[in-house]
Amino acid sequence: AAVVAAPAYDWSKFSPYDPPPRTERRAKACFVILVRNSDVHDMRVTMRQLEDRFNKDYNYPYVFLNNEPFSDEFKQLTSSMASGNTSYGLIPKEHWGYPPWISQQKAAETREKMKDIIYGSSESYRHMCRYESGFFYRHPLMDQFDYYWRVEPGVDFLCDIRYDPFMLMQERQLKYGFTISLHEYRDTVPTLWKTTREFMDKYPQHVAKHNTLPWVTDQALTDYNMCHFWSNFEIGSVKWLRSEQYTAYFDFLDQSGGFFYERWGDAPVHSLAVAMFLRKEEVHWFEDIGYFHGPFYNCPNPKALNQHCHCNPKDSLHLSGWSCTKAWGELPDTPKA
Ligand code: GDP
Ligand code: MN
Repeated sequence: AAVVAAPAYDWSKFSPYDPPPRTERRAKACFVILVRNSDVHDMRVTMRQLEDRFNKDYNYPYVFLNNEPFSDEFKQLTSSMASGNTSYGLIPKEHWGYPPWISQQKAAETREKMKDIIYGSSESYRHMCRYESGFFYRHPLMDQFDYYWRVEPGVDFLCDIRYDPFMLMQERQLKYGFTISLHEYRDTVPTLWKTTREFMDKYPQHVAKHNTLPWVTDQALTDYNMCHFWSNFEIGSVKWLRSEQYTAYFDFLDQSGGFFYERWGDAPVHSLAVAMFLRKEEVHWFEDIGYFHGPFYNCPNPKALNQHCHCNPKDSLHLSGWSCTKAWGELPDTPKA
């Protein structure tokens, strides 16, 4: 008998209120998690929720990355929690350490000067931020994937996810997805904007015509307003991060030394790249994904969505002035050609 195909779902009309029927189709996609062996139990808390809320029905693989070898215990306790394949990657030394043009003495002086700001005195945090800015998507274990979902140990997934976010990314040709946006601490990125403007002056061809720079600055590009997507949750296109534009931007920032001489986070770096290179329509707010990373929530209205959320919608950061998500929504749509 002929196999009758399910009617094609029109992803251009996607709404989480009316999710598409579940199919066998999968994107080439994975969860990617930078984590230490000592975080194994927080990792399992998060995996349990991610599986129950979503992945038990989809079986996407997990890629764990670490600057030290993963222990057998970590591998056992995480693979046994996963419904998809798990793989465990060691980060190469060249991706986690000082590049030759960085003065380690100046880096140490910076850590002393910045000791009163959050993570200001931490050396490993800076390696982490540089790695998440420019390297995780270059790990060989990531070669086979088109989309990644960044997860951290200890985060909570607060609602059922009743569709495949990776397929949404693929079918809508989205490049970047977020749950929470907020303002960065200015002291962590004193010269990030100046450096980003120098990049735009040097490579004007890389800045998209219909960009989203108005989300982060004014018409004259005077200053950075500190708006950024919180990068502990991201669903994104690996190809986009490997693009000529993004690579040129990361290399330019890396050369300037700000990952070590200041404390640039991967969140503002990814966000400024979004602002320069992407159209509004290429970026998606997963408003329906209930998510907690201390101290902030994204909590949808559970009545409307029937997603069995376990959070208070009043706590959702997008309702507060510290969020930049309202401003994102108010960006004008890209003019039709
Ligand atoms: P915060 O969210 O900015 O407070 O930073 P986190 O401490 O959560 O670190 C961000 C991510 O990097 C998390 O996934 C951590 O597990 C991971 N991470 C941070 N530092 C290290 C490190 O030194 N080694 C490894 N393997 N992972 C790290
Ligand atoms: Mn974190």
